[in-house]
Amino acid sequence: MVFLGPPGSGKGTQAKKLSQELGLMHISTGDILRDAVKNQTELGKKAKEYMDRGELVPDNLMIALIEEVMPKEGGFILDGFPRTVPQALALEEMLRGYKRDVDKVFLFDLSEEVVVERLSGRLTCSQCGAVYHRKYNPPKQEGVCDLCGGKLIQREDDKEEVVRRRYRVYKEQTSPLVEFYQKKNKLIRLDASQDIQEVNKRLLEVLRDGH
Ligand code: ADP
Ligand code: ADP
Ligand code: ZN
Repeated sequence: MVFLGPPGSGKGTQAKKLSQELGLMHISTGDILRDAVKNQTELGKKAKEYMDRGELVPDNLMIALIEEVMPKEGGFILDGFPRTVPQALALEEMLRGYKRDVDKVFLFDLSEEVVVERLSGRLTCSQCGAVYHRKYNPPKQEGVCDLCGGKLIQREDDKEEVVRRRYRVYKEQTSPLVEFYQKKNKLIRLDASQDIQEVNKRLLEVLRDGH
């Protein structure tokens, strides 16, 4: 499964929930990259500037990364990949090599204004990467992660100017994938403005009934 949608549309939140509910592997390229930056790996060093600016990390790095982490069997959710047409083509080719294919692509539909509101309130655990929202999904204790006790911070790229740039990058470079997957009859549109439980319910419904 692929989760497609602008930054802040709830892909990570839903992917975490659904992967637990259904026993699927959750592959978040954003999380992998942030770990790489934190650990100052070769990939992290190359990716950091792009991420800070709210731009996309070059396709060749991303494709190599997915090749490395993609499981050869068992279901998985790709959260944040592919984000360009070349990435989508590379994914097809990779899966074909394992006689597999993308099953469903969920489009998380959300307006720019709601994106900015979501991301300006997003809090991320500096230790384990868990995600909260000041208003919509607050931690039990202010500033502290429910799961690990780590300190909650605002991501540098969640500041408003960077968010606007990321939204623009999404429109220009990622949104062509909507048509790409529509043509293959794989796209399912979700109203991502609904609350967290409601979107989860809808996902489970589509997976159960096929539509
Ligand atoms: P969000 O969850 O807010 O949509 P991510 O955590 O997925 O953002 O991504 C953070 C940053 O990591 C992006 O702004 C981009 O620089 C980089 N990134 C993540 N996935 C990809 C990808 N598939 N291709 C290129 N860059 C990526
Ligand atoms: P993405 O992975 O697409 O960038 P996230 O899952 O990180 O998005 O969600 C962005 C922010 O919005 C987070 O602060 C999260 O807690 C919050 N959020 C996620 N889904 C919803 C929802 N359905 N309604 C309100 N807030 C949400
Ligand atoms: Zn934590």
